[in-house]
Amino acid sequence: MTNRQEISNPSDEPCVFCRIVKGEIPSMKVYEDEYAIAFLDINPVNPGHTLIVPKNHYEQLNDMPIEMAEHMMKVAWKIVLAIKKEIDPLGFNIISNNGKEAGQLIPHFHMHVIPRFHEDKTRFAFIWGTKKIEEEQMKKIQEGIKEKLKETV
Ligand code: AMP
Ligand code: ZN
Repeated sequence: MTNRQEISNPSDEPCVFCRIVKGEIPSMKVYEDEYAIAFLDINPVNPGHTLIVPKNHYEQLNDMPIEMAEHMMKVAWKIVLAIKKEIDPLGFNIISNNGKEAGQLIPHFHMHVIPRFHEDKTRFAFIWGTKKIEEEQMKKIQEGIKEKLKETV
């Protein structure tokens, strides 16, 4: 796979997710490997809502090599298993918005892993908006997923 240093944000705009990757802004990180990181979404649809982000700046799926796309799905598999153990949702939405017309707000590729529960009612996760989760609970979720990931990988 392409080395992380070889690709950077093509525009001069500061990319929020590049800055999280570099550690310039904080995130509630649950997972990191050579190519990707995963952290809790700051505006979660449900508790445990996690974002998986490649360390390289690729805007959309079609901008990355196929090996990176495969890697993203491998990380999603690990995150899903860990959230299943920690939070035990009934299901998940695994979603990636590609392009602003498709609802992509941050133009750095990412996959949403959204735990789903019986009470959710609506079919698609993004329709009903986000939840306010207290910082203490977010930290508990973060630590829980990190612990379960140790057992998973
Ligand atoms: P989208 O680009 O529409 O797929 O969604 C971008 C997601 O990134 C939203 O769900 C935001 O809540 C989330 N987000 C934006 N900034 C941050 C941040 N600094 N830390 C964690 N999540 C973020
Ligand atoms: Zn970026």
